Amino acid sequence: MTGFVTKAVHGIPGRTSAHGTLRGPVYDSVAFEFAKSTDIEKAFEGRLAAHSYTRVSNPTVQELEERVAFLAGAKGVVAVSSGMAAISNTIMALAGAGTNIVTTRFLFGNTLSLFQNTLGPWGLEVRYADFLRPESVAAAIDGNTRAVFLETITNPQLEVADIELIAAIAHENGVPVIADGTATTPYLFPSRNFGVDVEVISSTKYMSGGATTIGGLIVDNGIFDWKQAPRLKEAARRYGPHAFIAALRHTVYRDLGACMAPHNAYLQVLGLETMGLRIERSCANTLRLARWLKNRPEVSTVNYPGLETSPSHATAKRLLSKGFGGILTFSLSDRKACFAFMDALQTIRRATNIHDNKTLILHPASTIFCEFDAEEKAAMGVGDAMLRLSVGIEDDEDLITDLERGFAAVEIAALQKEDA
Ligand code: PLP
Repeated sequence: MTGFVTKAVHGIPGRTSAHGTLRGPVYDSVAFEFAKSTDIEKAFEGRLAAHSYTRVSNPTVQELEERVAFLAGAKGVVAVSSGMAAISNTIMALAGAGTNIVTTRFLFGNTLSLFQNTLGPWGLEVRYADFLRPESVAAAIDGNTRAVFLETITNPQLEVADIELIAAIAHENGVPVIADGTATTPYLFPSRNFGVDVEVISSTKYMSGGATTIGGLIVDNGIFDWKQAPRLKEAARRYGPHAFIAALRHTVYRDLGACMAPHNAYLQVLGLETMGLRIERSCANTLRLARWLKNRPEVSTVNYPGLETSPSHATAKRLLSKGFGGILTFSLSDRKACFAFMDALQTIRRATNIHDNKTLILHPASTIFCEFDAEEKAAMGVGDAMLRLSVGIEDDEDLITDLERGFAAVEIAALQKEDA
């Protein structure tokens, strides 16, 4: 069993289940009973591997964690309540007041807000570098840097940096690389092969089965020597290569309480089974739409790493062997045209999410990035005339028919403006 989809469908070889069930069960229980008080004592002291309380661990959640670790070839996985929980748990386990992380402004808006507005006041310094110029990453790292953080395909700028080179630079400085692989998952980008130490994923998206449930994953690829991470020195002494996962379980993850609900974990295991197929279809649809949009006279720019015109195309081709992702952006004349376009759509949904089975459209500047001023939005590459499409798995002709409705509405709006 070597192929990704086969492994995703069948799970870990040799595993048996109660009653021979091919799926489930869902252990929807908060607490777990022990036969003897000495066993509870041992479980709390870490001398007995057992579930005691679902905020700390749960068998259904563990099933998801182990299946993701198997697929990713990872050392360990912790499932959490959302993608944001995956990012916040990871940063809080590694960094703290008086330290810094090196990242880019090309990030999901809430991630940028987490770093600046939530963790900033707790004393974390956020340093921004240009990840298309790895030398600027090297220049930003110093003795207080605790992590380099990036997205595999940035949302919504769709930049793909040379992650392998950035990882090499970070490792030369004894710093781990955290990559948000929400847009790629281990199917499109096996992050371990490119030197990523920790992959964080919003499993709310592709992984859940196409936006069925909210969740997040923290994947330790087992590359980094955690003795080099100042906050994990004691954990590294006690738990060796498992130090990062152990530190999460014994402190940050347990104490923050952002655990995944067992029922969500069950649905996300089901989602994993079909993930490869859905991503393949979503990527094929996105490439088709990107090429089609490029030929529309109303469109000033189309951004998609799969297009030869994308500045990230060459790197994306090297890193993403199975497809260029399911998001594209395109620009019309202005915000008004964007709104007229969106309002005319009948198949594509006006909704804020990515990697649903349904194609979704959003005007990022007025939504996810609305809390940033014009200058900040410009620095983040979020223009007022830009629309983002997260392309689903529908029949591509239906999507094109719908986009044609959008363009017709833009034309009518322009004519009405001329008449007025
Ligand atoms: N990372 C990326 C790249 C995202 O696009 C999102 C959400 O859209 C998140 C993280 C946060 O995920 P969640 O909504 O599951 O917290």
